[in-house]
Amino acid sequence: MRAPRRVADFRLTTSRSRLPKLWRNIMAMKIVVAECSSCGDCIKVCPTNSIYEKGGIVKIKADTCNECEDSDDGPKCQATCASGEACIVYM
Ligand code: SF4
Ligand code: SF4
Repeated sequence: MRAPRRVADFRLTTSRSRLPKLWRNIMAMKIVVAECSSCGDCIKVCPTNSIYEKGGIVKIKADTCNECEDSDDGPKCQATCASGEACIVYM
């Protein structure tokens, strides 16, 4: 179970679309390049199509990633990645 975070707690009572743009961009995941094998597994499961590969490096678009806020199981990319929380982290 992931540790509670201030932004995540705020999200429970506020829809993402009503948050200031800066907050929306903070509410995203990012990939630790050193841990990523560029396998592409996370790209296939992202419900917002926020993960892409460019030049062999896999990245997450901070402005569209919503941390899988509708999922009870947390970020789907993190759950799919073989390296899990070591590779895909909260911003
Ligand atoms: S947390 Fe969810 S929306 Fe964000 S990149 Fe991962 S799978 Fe996509
Ligand atoms: S599933 Fe993990 S190792 Fe594979 S591309 Fe995504 S972040 Fe990288």
